[in-house]
Amino acid sequence: MTHLKGSFTVVVTGGHGLVGKALQTFAPEFTYLSRKHADLRDKNAVLALFEKLKPDVVIHLASHVGGVYDNMKHNYTYLVDNTQMHLNLLEACRVHQVSKLVNILSTCIFPDEGVQYPLTSDQLHQGPPHASNCGYAYSKRFLHTASTILSQSSNGTLRVINLIPTNLYGRYDQYNLERAHVIPALVHKTYLAQKHDTPSLVIRGAGNARRQFLFANDLAKVITHFVAHEIDHDVACIVSPPKNHEISIKDLVHEIVHVFGWDTPRILFEVDEDEGQFCKTTDDMELKTYLPDFEFTSLKEGLGDIIPFFCREYDRLRT
Ligand code: NDP
Repeated sequence: MTHLKGSFTVVVTGGHGLVGKALQTFAPEFTYLSRKHADLRDKNAVLALFEKLKPDVVIHLASHVGGVYDNMKHNYTYLVDNTQMHLNLLEACRVHQVSKLVNILSTCIFPDEGVQYPLTSDQLHQGPPHASNCGYAYSKRFLHTASTILSQSSNGTLRVINLIPTNLYGRYDQYNLERAHVIPALVHKTYLAQKHDTPSLVIRGAGNARRQFLFANDLAKVITHFVAHEIDHDVACIVSPPKNHEISIKDLVHEIVHVFGWDTPRILFEVDEDEGQFCKTTDDMELKTYLPDFEFTSLKEGLGDIIPFFCREYDRLRT
């Protein structure tokens, strides 16, 4: 059992995934859970675990997460799995009188149309999400709404922090090519293409979609800030690097190839493949109200960290 300053117990769901492992490096004193401790879709198991751990603060990272193509194929499973997990977690927080809950939402759950860019957290429910990940998106929107209602019903004993990160990447990503998000998929593909000296690197989609990428360590630092600081209101806050960090997938591929030190391979973009939402530009304005001096890791620096790590740990990470 671990304690933060002032002796309160912090429990992290999904503590062994991409963000969880990043958080472990900054806050080893928290208690990190995985599916082995409890399947969060099982209400009784979650309640029993909370009875044992008695958390004061919960950081809720666990989610059934996947790349755009896997979401498109299994939207209903994403909806049901995630909604069950979130509901059970909220109920356990209510029963065990947790005093702070930090949820992780995502900028990919915002409406696809009718919003103003850069995105702001108050536009989250202003229209349907993109069809490609609607199951995942509605479950996260439910988490936002339900946790806010729970907080309002708690007479101020529960504070809810809903952090809304943009696309994440980091060392402990999912690199399996069937399920990976864009950066780990591109890193893995480039590694294989370079290793086997293939004549061309084939990329799904035209490469025009634009994204901002957030280094998992940066999100971990933001989470620890919100855990450690007293706050007298609920928070919904986008966590994204500034607008000028936005990059097209095409340019990202070139950056990755460059970090691999691969001289001008032939890169083929499969223009007929759906790329998901074209852009979902955000910025760092909301975060600045809480952390005015926060410095984001540049993409160059982040790729320079994860690519050598992936190459070194290939046999362990590739599945
Ligand atoms: P990962 O997929 O790396 O990790 C997910 C974690 O959730 C794992 O530890 C997994 O446990 C746990 N989990 C999944 N299903 C269950 C279940 N049924 N019961 C208990 N635990 C479960 O996720 P990330 O670290 O990438 O994401 C963290 C959060 O950030 C998520 O809420 C995600 O939606 C959000 N997010 C992620 C983005 C990204 O680009 N990755 C972008 C924006 C938001 P186990 O270790 O046992 O498998």
